[in-house]
Amino acid sequence: MNATSRLSRRAWLKTTIMAISGAAALPLLGRAAEAAPPKVSKAVAHYQDHPVGRKMCGTCRYFIPAGGVTGRGMMGGAMGPGMMRAGHCRVVQGQVSPRGYCLLYQPA
Ligand code: SF4
Repeated sequence: MNATSRLSRRAWLKTTIMAISGAAALPLLGRAAEAAPPKVSKAVAHYQDHPVGRKMCGTCRYFIPAGGVTGRGMMGGAMGPGMMRAGHCRVVQGQVSPRGYCLLYQPA
């Protein structure tokens, strides 16, 4: 896979997630939007258990550390006691490693 097709796939994934999130939100109009947007599978996001350079879940805006987000500390709150344990992601299903990575990565 070359860089152009990888970028195209990333753009497609983001567009798809935004469309799904928007469609899922329609029935909630008029109510408090408490539900989280649907998450994609690790396979769809091309999740891997190792970083790409300095890009990793622990520095991603979607990462939720094992201990939860207790504040906006270093690296978007990802640094701290929960940094070394598996956490969760706001957009990808299941547990994710702080040193993992996927195509939906966004710097914190
Ligand atoms: S979006 Fe991807 S890189 Fe970011 S926390 Fe979730 S799984 Fe990790």
